[in-house]
Amino acid sequence: HRQAQVLMRREQALTQAIAYNQLRVHYQPIIALDTRVVTSLEALVRWQKPGEGLLYPDQFIALAEDIGVITSIDQWVLRQACQQLQTWQQMGTGAWTVADGRIVRHACSAEPAPTMAINVNLSSNHFAKNNLVDTFASILQDTGLEGHYLKLEITESVFIENAKEAAAMLAELKQFDVQICLDDFGTGYSSLSYLHKFPIDIVKIDRTFVQGIDTDDEKLEIVRAIISLCHTLGMAVTAEGIETPEQRDILLDLGCECGQGYLFAKATDGATITRNLQR
Ligand code: C2E
Ligand code: CA
Ligand code: CA
Repeated sequence: HRQAQVLMRREQALTQAIAYNQLRVHYQPIIALDTRVVTSLEALVRWQKPGEGLLYPDQFIALAEDIGVITSIDQWVLRQACQQLQTWQQMGTGAWTVADGRIVRHACSAEPAPTMAINVNLSSNHFAKNNLVDTFASILQDTGLEGHYLKLEITESVFIENAKEAAAMLAELKQFDVQICLDDFGTGYSSLSYLHKFPIDIVKIDRTFVQGIDTDDEKLEIVRAIISLCHTLGMAVTAEGIETPEQRDILLDLGCECGQGYLFAKATDGATITRNLQR
């Protein structure tokens, strides 16, 4: 009974989290492994819950999916991220890189406007509803951000749960010039058929593979095969969860374009990133 009560209170609180302005977006850089330029920032949601501190997605995303508020949360994050990128674009800082775990201006950044994008996670629940494309269009219009600065991260559960709807919706989203990333690749079914059936631009290799790549030959061979297959099919590859220079060097050798992980930087809030850039 007590557990049920706790769950019910948490559900209620989560339903009101947006209205009470308790959600936050943190940004983790994605780096071009060869030049160390920041090519994109992944928007990651947090819940500043009164009395409990900053909660991470593993503590509330599953619940948000269960009670049906995940689509509102994702759309809120998408809007925040688009606005934030617009603001950074207007600051005109040139290219960014990372040093000592922080995002800083790239020393030799020539002025052509940076092409840095923003990655936003989309729960598979969106693909069971029909308003994603409309919401998406209005967010782009309101924030004035061009679609090619956006990368939408989806997982293969989208294809398993709503294959037909997903294919149609992705085709519509592609008309805005956004890019589609297949997140967490290597976990779950990782069916190779998705890679050519759906309009995927970038594959993100899950960190469970990346983290064994310097000690486990089998993981290394799996990652080598994934990268080679993606390239053959015309897709780029981002490796998640890079924590050591050895892992980065191996991935660079294998031809992996981009990487993300604590070796470069953890996710931080937008204000902190802005402050570091202004130093
Ligand atoms: P993800 O999409 O795989 O996001 C990357 C997660 O890996 C983030 O955790 C990030 O902080 C963590 N990470 C990054 N680099 C490293 C590393 O080098 N080592 C380790 N051990 N971890 C690293 P976070 O922020 O806790 O997010 C967890 C998951 O929550 C995300 O996994 C994503 O699936 C989900 N999520 C986050 N924000 C949203 C959102 O706005 N909407 C939806 N639907 N899901 C979200
Ligand atoms: Ca992701
Ligand atoms: Ca991931």
